[in-house]
Amino acid sequence: MSLIEARGICKTFNGRSGEHIPAVDQLSLAIEDEEFVVIVGPSGCGKSTFLQMVGGLERPTSGTLRIEGQPIDGPDSRCGIVFQEYLLFPWKTVQGNIAFGPSLRGLSKGEITSLCTHYIELVGLQNFASSYPHELSGGMKQRVAIARALANQPRVLLMDEPFGALDALTRESMQWELLRIWEDARCTVVFVTHSITEAVLLADRVIVMSKRPGRIKKDIAIGLPRPRT
Ligand code: ADP
Ligand code: ADP
Repeated sequence: MSLIEARGICKTFNGRSGEHIPAVDQLSLAIEDEEFVVIVGPSGCGKSTFLQMVGGLERPTSGTLRIEGQPIDGPDSRCGIVFQEYLLFPWKTVQGNIAFGPSLRGLSKGEITSLCTHYIELVGLQNFASSYPHELSGGMKQRVAIARALANQPRVLLMDEPFGALDALTRESMQWELLRIWEDARCTVVFVTHSITEAVLLADRVIVMSKRPGRIKKDIAIGLPRPRT
């Protein structure tokens, strides 16, 4: 059983004049545990829609989509999501943003603090735990968003063009940073980007979508298989 299994999934949106817009059409795809999968493809080919369906934010119109063999019935703790726009809670500090998920899971105060400390250190924001999002640079905000997603200890980290709003230098340093973070987190990553360079640097596997919604043009393994420990 694969960690994520999509079988013939379709997603259709209703356009303004009632027309049906196929965002994903008959997509079948299996993603394994601890893979780092990058999805690239032309704008509008359904990359974000696929990610949102895996994250439970959208529901497939038809077909089956499962994580660990279980259907996805809305957002749940199996997936953490990082968006291009960060989407941090502006009224919460860095620590408050990261504690949010764990605090919903009924953990003790001590457990929440130790999760926060671990993930704040992992993303290198030890000196900013009490800062508010508006006091941080774009790269730092995205580090908070990554830490917030990981603090729920998800099986899958979904990232939708996460570095797309950053300047070129910050973007490059965040790419290396993410590889380091991922070594620690050891979850499955599904990462959407427009950048082939980013895809090749980060991925174990690159899925190239075609312009036709939901069609896979190429499915490419990158580099050597990582040893499993
Ligand atoms: P990508 O991420 O590859 O750029 P998207 O998944 O965002 O593609 O979009 C796929 C198609 O679905 C596009 O034609 C887009 O306009 C349409 N679409 C996406 N979300 C919605 C929505 N909420 N309502 C209507 N159409 C949508
Ligand atoms: P990207 O290419 O980075 O995926 P988009 O501009 O295609 O960005 O989409 C950004 C967001 O807007 C997505 O969450 C998508 O679901 C939504 N969206 C895209 N197209 C439409 C549309 N035609 N109507 C409503 N929402 C849309």
